Amino acid sequence: MLRNVLSMLTASIMLVFMAGCSGNSTQTEEEMENQYTGVIPQGTALTPDTTVDVAQRLSIYAPFTLTADISHLSDKEKQILPLLFEAASLMDEIFWQQTIGNKEAFLSSIQDETTRRFAEINYGPWDRLNGNMPFIQGIDSKPLGANFYPVDMTKEEFEALADENKNSLYTLIRRNPDNTLRVVWYHEAYASKVNKAAELLNQAAGLAEDPQLKNYLELRAKALLTDQYQESDFAWMDMKNSNIDFVIGPIENYEDALNGVKAAQEAYILIKDVEWSKKLAHFASLLPELQKGLPVDQKYKSEVPGSDADLNAYDVVYYAGDCNAGSKTIAINLPNDEEVQLKKGSRKLQLKNAMKAKFDMILVPIANELMDPSQQEFIKFDAFFENTMFHEVAHGLGIKNTLNGSGTVREVLKEQYSAIEEAKADILGLYMVTKLYEMGELNQGQVMDNYVTFMAGIFRSVRFGAASAHGKANMLTFSYFSENNAFDYADGKYKVNFDKMKTAVEGLGGMILTMQGDGNYEGVKELIQNKSVIPAALQADLDRLKDANIPVDIVFTQGKSQLGL
Ligand code: ZN
Repeated sequence: MLRNVLSMLTASIMLVFMAGCSGNSTQTEEEMENQYTGVIPQGTALTPDTTVDVAQRLSIYAPFTLTADISHLSDKEKQILPLLFEAASLMDEIFWQQTIGNKEAFLSSIQDETTRRFAEINYGPWDRLNGNMPFIQGIDSKPLGANFYPVDMTKEEFEALADENKNSLYTLIRRNPDNTLRVVWYHEAYASKVNKAAELLNQAAGLAEDPQLKNYLELRAKALLTDQYQESDFAWMDMKNSNIDFVIGPIENYEDALNGVKAAQEAYILIKDVEWSKKLAHFASLLPELQKGLPVDQKYKSEVPGSDADLNAYDVVYYAGDCNAGSKTIAINLPNDEEVQLKKGSRKLQLKNAMKAKFDMILVPIANELMDPSQQEFIKFDAFFENTMFHEVAHGLGIKNTLNGSGTVREVLKEQYSAIEEAKADILGLYMVTKLYEMGELNQGQVMDNYVTFMAGIFRSVRFGAASAHGKANMLTFSYFSENNAFDYADGKYKVNFDKMKTAVEGLGGMILTMQGDGNYEGVKELIQNKSVIPAALQADLDRLKDANIPVDIVFTQGKSQLGL
């Protein structure tokens, strides 16, 4: 099947080029890109694959409206937002081109409304949350290189291509009329759209009152036109005070599963949660004091933790392109440019309303199924949000260098580092919450909210397996809690024992800090191997969730009208 499609594609590309050559031979890269058929066969009606229950697959996404309180924004800031919405939607259009090619031709060929809606959410005919299984008849597996490369390009061909820009994050690979390959810059292939987006960013910069926002918007506009992003990444790192944040451009490279290089276009529009951001800065400033109280021998807490983590809370009001395809992130950690990271670090943006969506739609129903009825009252969004925030802050606790001078903890623990570091952040996050309540720094709820909500959060994270570093960390914590009776288990329900969980948090925290400080690679490896398995009883409970039709992810109703603009 794919073979046929490929030869059809190649034939139609050849026709396009021959037409181009015989008529006006001066087609721009953008004109050629717009005529390029992409990775989906054109001109035939696309019908649902009858072996796939598309309606059921669509129902795994719970709808959620993105909005935010913008009453604290100035008039100028409110005028900036519509410009950003427009620029973001252009990134969405470009992402369609990058992943499949012609969005309009594709969507209009699908008659069935449910299938079309599902295709919109997936930005194509492949089910992103089910290993990219095709759900439309006659569509083969997803090309690894999406629409960044010609679908029929071989590895040898790519390797033989003599062009220093072929491995750039910001270029496409296309075929010439004579079937050889060439390299095309994004700003040429998508010229009209990036020109328009840059114009909108410059208009927004003209309205910006915050000098760092203004500088960033101007440099980002320039970057879109040149495909040189580093200067604007530096400017973004300097943006400390703006109420509005805007992530825009080609950023992550997961969509390129062939080489993991080509960056996909996306945008987020964000409104800073000023109150929470201040709280986070305050809590980060308490890190040195909290470090002193850690439940571990003095030598394992001798470093002074950095309290300069650039961590802020936002409400996200628009997801466009890559970040809106399939599963939705609830935190952003950028930029990816390692040179920028080395010189300026990175910024962590926590997306509060997106977390609320996952809490309401996914965590609460899971807690209903798996937590003891008497503890449902402790399942609270504030606790979920705090646990997530303190996890991030708690990465700063402990020590970065091993005690015996063999190197940093990261270097010595190698591939085992991420899982144990994530477990550390989970546990010391709970430790921080406990301490902050004791210090009177937190007083809105109670520690029990955080403990019970944390337990329910474990089930949410490992619902689809525990292969990731976070998944392993969760299972390590779960088994330590289990061995130390931090919860009771009966009839498929879990019940937190407050005092024992508090002791277990200190015990596990101390154990991890010691292993990290000792650079105990073998110990960590063995611990994770033995403890990061999902026990049979828990797996049976997780299987029960499948029958309860709990959503897997969320899909957004979004746009400037949701903000009353
Ligand atoms: Zn983490």
